[in-house]
Amino acid sequence: MINLILFGPPGSGKGTQANFIVEKYGLHHISTGDLFRKEIKNKTPLGLEAVSYSSKGQLVPDSVTIGILRNEVEANPDVKGFIFDGFPRTVPQAKALDTLMQEMDQSITCLVELRVPDDELTERLLGRGKTSGRADDKDPAIIADRIQVYKNETIPVALHYAQVDKAFIVDGVGSMEEVFDRICHRIEAQTEEV
Ligand code: AMP
Repeated sequence: MINLILFGPPGSGKGTQANFIVEKYGLHHISTGDLFRKEIKNKTPLGLEAVSYSSKGQLVPDSVTIGILRNEVEANPDVKGFIFDGFPRTVPQAKALDTLMQEMDQSITCLVELRVPDDELTERLLGRGKTSGRADDKDPAIIADRIQVYKNETIPVALHYAQVDKAFIVDGVGSMEEVFDRICHRIEAQTEEV
């Protein structure tokens, strides 16, 4: 199995690249942001709780997020591997993911971080907000908060995987195809080693 964490700030292109990776490697894509948006759309109790955080650019509490992620992994026992997109976003989430992988006799293959400068992130998110209908992509103040939350709470996740030599940085600036090529090189280098 290949279990890839596609990592990076909001607007770094994780969703777009995840779609390409799914096509090439046949992995199962899990985006916790998408899972929450589905709950929010269906106005479920979990959705109502999630939107109270996501509308402000804050993270949904770990206990809720880990629960939804675990359900999604356990609902897909026969896949070739997973792409985790937008998860883990805190160190406790990373530790919970490691435990879940261990329970399945699996491990994280690598974390690939898409690196994009802040001003380009803001520009991309505001551009996406015009068509995506996502409220959190329309307000520059909320975008700034999301980038700050990434720096404070999420960057330590990359350090967690760097400690076991599994974290890699890829330049996220360039065409979609260029960035995809860089990611593929990294995945292939890593799967040759294991
Ligand atoms: P995303 O689509 O990944 O940008 O996620 C949209 C929003 O969903 C985030 O701003 C958070 O409020 C929430 N969210 C998604 N994934 C997580 C996570 N792993 N931990 C906490 N909150 C999350």
